[in-house]
Order: sequence, then C-alpha cells, then structure tokens
Amino acid sequence: MQIEENIKPLLSVVIPCYNEDEVIGETYKRLQAFCSELVNLEVELIFVDDGSRDRTRELLEGYAAEDSRIRLIVFARNFGHQIAITAGIDAAGGDAVVLIDADLQDPPEVVHAMVARWREGYDVVYGTRTERLGESAFKRLTARCFYRLLNRLSDVPIPLDTGDFRLMSRNVVDTFKAMPEQDRFVRGMVSWAGFKQIALPYKRAERFAGESKYPLRKMLRFATDGILSFSTKPLQMSVGLGMFCAFLALAGIIYALALRLFTNIWVEGWTALMLAVLFIGGVQLICLGIVGEYIGRIYKEVKNRPLYIVQKYVGFKQAGPALSRSPVVHQNDR
Ligand code: UDP
Ligand code: MG
Repeated sequence: MQIEENIKPLLSVVIPCYNEDEVIGETYKRLQAFCSELVNLEVELIFVDDGSRDRTRELLEGYAAEDSRIRLIVFARNFGHQIAITAGIDAAGGDAVVLIDADLQDPPEVVHAMVARWREGYDVVYGTRTERLGESAFKRLTARCFYRLLNRLSDVPIPLDTGDFRLMSRNVVDTFKAMPEQDRFVRGMVSWAGFKQIALPYKRAERFAGESKYPLRKMLRFATDGILSFSTKPLQMSVGLGMFCAFLALAGIIYALALRLFTNIWVEGWTALMLAVLFIGGVQLICLGIVGEYIGRIYKEVKNRPLYIVQKYVGFKQAGPALSRSPVVHQNDR
C-alpha cells in the first residue's frame, strides 16, 4: 500500500441491490454504524441498483442526496448479481474494495476483521461460512456439493464455502478490471488473480427481510457458469464417455460373435439393438450439449457486447464513462 501521509486510505464498499426495498433501510443504517467505527479510513458506499422494479432505487437516491459518502450506479435493466458487482468494482476508487450483499447476510461488522488483515498485508480476505443460518437444507446441500464439484473440475483452486463477501486490495481490483470475460464468476476470477489471499471464517446470518433473488433456475445457471468458465474438463469427460461406449460396444461384439461361432444360441436382435441405439444416442446428445455450452459461450464472447448499461451515476466525482465499461451514460448527477 503506497499511502501518502495524512491522507487516509479509502475503502470502497460495493453493495449490489435487486428489489431490496424491504431491507435497504436497515442495511444503510448498519453500514452507517460500521463507517462511524472505522478509524483512519475514509469510506465510500457504492450501491448498484440492478434494475430493481420496487422502490429500491428511489430509496437509494434519497440516501445519496443526504450522504456524500454514497455513490449510486443505476443499471438500465437487471443484469444479474455478478455483473452488478463488476460495475461496482469498476467504479470503485478505493485502496481496498469490499463486496457485501444488501440483505445483511454478510454482517458489515466482519469487515473490521477484513480490514485488519488487509493492513497486515493480505490482498484478498474472503469470508468462509462456518454456519449458514436461515437457509434451507436443500440450499445448503446443493451449495456444498457444488463447491466440492467445482473444485474437482476447476484448474484454479477455488476456496470451499466461500461467497463473494470479501475485501480486495487495489492490485487485485486492477487485475480484475483487466478481465473482460462476459461470463463472470467473480469469486473464481479473484482466486485466479493470485496475490496473498486468506480466509476469514464468519457466521452467515439469515436474510434480514425479503426473499432470495436466486431461485433454483438461477442457481443452476450460476453453477454451470462457475464450472464452464473455470474448466474444460467436461470436454475431456465427454471423450472419456465416448471411449467407455466404444469399449462397451467392443465387448458386445466379441460376446455376440463368440455366441454365434461356438454355440447354437445367439443374441436376440430387437432389444439389444434398441438399447444400443438409445444408449449411443443419449451419450452423443450429452456430449454435443457439453460442446454446445462452450460454443454458446464463445459466441457470447465474440459478440463482445458491453457487460452492462448504466442509466445513471449519482454522487461520483469523476465523469461517468471514466468509471465503467458501459458506453452510454445518460446522466451524471452532481
Ligand atoms: N442481486 C442482484 N441482482 C440479481 C440478484 C441478486 O444485484 O439479479 C443482489 C441481491 O440484491 C443481494 C445479493 O445480490 O444483495 C445476493 O442475492 P440473494 O441474497 O438473493 O442471494 P442468496 O444470498 O440467497 O444466495
Ligand atoms: Mg442473500
């Protein structure tokens, strides 16, 4: 950290919000309390409104008008959690950046411990969940399986039971900003960046109010993104599956031939044939699907669309476009 004397380092806190009007008031209160406890550190609170359809945006604009520490990025539509985080990081001016959910599942108080570790010289301090309160057994089980499967498959070790709740130093933030990919699995990308990383165990609280914005469908999408953007092993596995089928077929041929040559019974035709056709058909479709997933991603990358579109920046000192990858910025208040 090269910090000039007398100038306090700046901590940027990025908070993605999607339809969070039930919790946002409480979140803001807790964050204010957190800020007032920070010593020798300036804070900016960067809220990203990810195309909310409730009153989240109005509330945030209200807070921003009163509090000069607040910055607000308003998306033109819902782009998803990972993209919202990315926009927050892009716009952050801090010497360190903290990612935190708007629903108070990640307690702001834990950030003090993260800052302490950062001051000891760590570049990434990621929260690992020792307990997950108020989440269904199904969510806990699927999350557990997912993190373990991901680690098996991924070429980069990605810490277990770790979400996006973390602190990153400027080095890591700049590295992250240089990563242009469309499919963004933020926690994996930060692991990939390297530097000095350390885990910080914490208890994941219950959602303060409102509902999870990750229904099963989105969770599956997120899990596939995680695996496919960090591994090409599924492709190798489809080769393995193909070899296995070829081997089965060979064994079948030898068996049928042996029966035909050395005995009077031979294999009944229809059932065996049908099974073989369906089996091979199924395996081929699975492999094609895997290849297709990768091709779909290549297609998305090749189109090279902007990651997100910002409708409005509020409370930033620099000009809008300098803050982001978004080409169109209609307004830049204040
Ligand atoms: N979120 C977002 N865009 C989305 C979905 C979620 O910005 O499309 C935000 C949401 O407001 C919250 C965070 O991402 O601050 C995590 O979402 P949620 O709490 O619903 O996920 P869970 O904790 O259930 O995994
Ligand atoms: Mg949550």
